[in-house]
Amino acid sequence: MKVFKFGGASIKNAKSIMNLAEILRLYPGNKVVVVSAMGKTTYELEQIANVYFSSGNYSDKLELLLKKHKKLIAGLFKNKKANIYNDFETIANELKMKLTNKPSLNYDYEYDQVVAFGELFSTKIIEAYLNKEGFKCSLLDVRKYIKTNSTYRDARVNWQLSTVLIKNGFVFNESEILLTQGFIASNEKDCTTTLGIEGSDFSAAIIAFALEAIEMVVWKDVPGFFNSDPKIYSGLVRLNAVSFHEAIELSYFGAKIIHPKTIKPLQNKNIPLYVKSFEEPILKGTLITQSTENKCGLDPEVPIFITKNKQILISIAPNDFSFIAEDNLSAIFALLARYRVKVNLMQNSAISFSICVDNIVERIDLLLKELKNNYKVLYNNKLTLITIRHYNQQTINELTNDRKVFIQQKSRHTVRFVVK
Ligand code: ASP
Ligand code: MG
Repeated sequence: MKVFKFGGASIKNAKSIMNLAEILRLYPGNKVVVVSAMGKTTYELEQIANVYFSSGNYSDKLELLLKKHKKLIAGLFKNKKANIYNDFETIANELKMKLTNKPSLNYDYEYDQVVAFGELFSTKIIEAYLNKEGFKCSLLDVRKYIKTNSTYRDARVNWQLSTVLIKNGFVFNESEILLTQGFIASNEKDCTTTLGIEGSDFSAAIIAFALEAIEMVVWKDVPGFFNSDPKIYSGLVRLNAVSFHEAIELSYFGAKIIHPKTIKPLQNKNIPLYVKSFEEPILKGTLITQSTENKCGLDPEVPIFITKNKQILISIAPNDFSFIAEDNLSAIFALLARYRVKVNLMQNSAISFSICVDNIVERIDLLLKELKNNYKVLYNNKLTLITIRHYNQQTINELTNDRKVFIQQKSRHTVRFVVK
């Protein structure tokens, strides 16, 4: 049994859903298919959730979103009497109902209740289409199987419970395809939660883990994993294989290869992960697996470039210029946790402590305000964090030559720069 994951780009319109069906035809046998919301739906629902939460008028945005889905349905179902037309209305009405209730004071909760509709819409439509095309496909509501705590927007999985529920619930019987939603889950009160932005890869890995799948495939708009972002560097190399360990390192440093939480469950059960192109499904793609031929965990062995834009470098020093002692650091980390600010890189000196973090304005503004109560705080904005794995001097020169370097950190396999 295989687990396939299709992201938003692979189901953005009627044509791409037809293409998804063609891909499934290439792989006979039982499959679990995990899908995201179509195209940019999650983002659009996020906008609606924001307006709803601030009691504004979201009607135009909602109309646009529903229209986009209806257009897609019309592209897939020429028969206007097909059940999907009504089935879609039913779910759309649920969303409308939700939005007519007064929002609670918990933004993260409201966000999850609203954005989850993206995956509920997409899976309903794809189920109907696949069955029309002759597949034996059953739709499972993933919220019955992936159970989490109540950290809305970034829920933690209850592995023990979820594994049992998935094992008992994902049973093929007559079906050859079990279709389900990525990204969403539910807590012990059966309220909808989400696993964090781009979390569908992780959903697929949770299911692959529980069912001990023979492989997982993530279908993307690129034919695998490259050693850098095509928009940033020339001379790209596609990787044939990456070890689990190296993949975890790379996603930790910000490579957009796969959602960072995805690899660990697969590694634990030694389930190979393929990253393949939904545009050219015949191509081999990249295999992420236990080990590669080269000791470095990469085949071929090449330097890997990872950049993270929109970084802010914050330097924190005590007002009285006393040393940054352990108790200062623990207070600072408590604030980082409270505002959910993830540290991408840190460095300390005798009297100051610097962190490089994503500049997520809503969170950073609050953090800075709070830090300024107790510390002298300086910051530099609009920076880029560059990481080179398996670097050499030439690659370092190429990337830092015409740039102002704020921080450089070098270890045996990795060099990192904060630059402007
Ligand atoms: N639809 C969700 C998002 O856009 C989950 C995913 O695509 O993986 O973040
Ligand atoms: Mg997506």
